[in-house]
Amino acid sequence: MSSSGDHQRLIIIGSGPAGLTAAIYAARAELAPLCIEGIESGGQLMQTTEIENFPGFPQGLMGPELMINFREQAERFGTSFVTDDVSEVDLAATPKVVKVGDRTWTADAVIVSTGATARMIGLESEAKLLGHGVSTCATCDGYFFRDKELIVVGGGDSAMEEATFLTKFASKVTIVHRRDEYRASKIMLDRARANDKVEFIEWAGVTEVLDDGTGAVTGVTLTDTRTGEERRLDCQGVFVAIGHDPNTKLFRGVLDTDENGYIRTQAPSTRTNLDGVFACGDVQDHEYRQAITAAGSGCAAALDAERYLASIGDLPDPSIDADRDEADHVTGSKPAVAVRVS
Ligand SMILES: Cc1cc2nc3c(=O)[nH]c(=O)nc-3n(C[C@H](O)[C@H](O)[C@H](O)COP(=O)(O)OP(=O)(O)OC[C@H]3O[C@@H](n4cnc5c(N)ncnc54)[C@H](O)[C@@H]3O)c2cc1C
Repeated sequence: MSSSGDHQRLIIIGSGPAGLTAAIYAARAELAPLCIEGIESGGQLMQTTEIENFPGFPQGLMGPELMINFREQAERFGTSFVTDDVSEVDLAATPKVVKVGDRTWTADAVIVSTGATARMIGLESEAKLLGHGVSTCATCDGYFFRDKELIVVGGGDSAMEEATFLTKFASKVTIVHRRDEYRASKIMLDRARANDKVEFIEWAGVTEVLDDGTGAVTGVTLTDTRTGEERRLDCQGVFVAIGHDPNTKLFRGVLDTDENGYIRTQAPSTRTNLDGVFACGDVQDHEYRQAITAAGSGCAAALDAERYLASIGDLPDPSIDADRDEADHVTGSKPAVAVRVS
């Protein structure tokens, strides 16, 4: 059975650096936002260990600690939280409809900050050693691998870019690719090939990440993709660079996305193609993908949402229409609140 939640001025979907920064700004603007933070509260940084590049923390801090700080700051100014995944939305309706299972909320504005998920090889050992030698982000973690031997898995532009970047720190970087043809552009491939520290192993896949009981990466098992033959390659780090998937399944067909599924925003703003719907963080950024850039765009989204809410004026008390409109909130089939006072 459906049960109706209340009406909100602003709902924020997601609680990574983008969503929680939006929440801090919106809460301080007295919008009392509701943040539906997802089952993975805190986002991608909850999966990692040390963060050394977030400004304001000269000694660095652990990813989960940073995200707990973000959340406490958002809560302090009046953000409410629901720790679950949004299951359905109707963002074209007025007001907008957001559902979590059988609970339904309506909102005048929505900020989407559902992030992106790095594709992984899919090995148990890879997941276990994430943050302990396995990484999906050279910009984030390259600095920790000074004078180490590294593997980059992938054959696209990002694999070439990450490998080239990692040679600043590593003594050697081996690109492991399943074929001898590359999706990478010629210029990126040539640049990696011209780098003395970069080696290539083709026709091979990583089928195990090894730690030899140390709790940190010590090597990988490589399997020949043609013969199935296995061999060990020693290394101290594995960078998986096989792409990211933006978390936009919920919004497919409603919000404009690019060919890779990232939400399109009307730069320099965070506006989407729908009035009152804003997007920030990795869900709309395949270029930078950093905590600080996500936080920056979260700030912009809150300011954009605040301006939008001011432009439409205050809503009448939604409880007056709540009974009549409950069915519409659930289906989102027609506007539940038709009259605005501007
Ligand atoms: C292992 C690792 C290490 C990293 N290290 C660094 C680093 O050192 N420095 C740095 O700057 N960056 C680092 N990054 C990158 C950084 O984490 C991201 O750029 C940043 O987290 C993006 O923030 P975001 O808010 O856009 O999205 P995310 O952090 O991805 O958060 C997305 C949020 O949306 C929620 N969500 C998703 N779907 C739903 C739904 N249906 N309903 C409700 N909520 C939903 C999730 O639960 C999550 O809370 C690292 C990333 C990884 C994976």
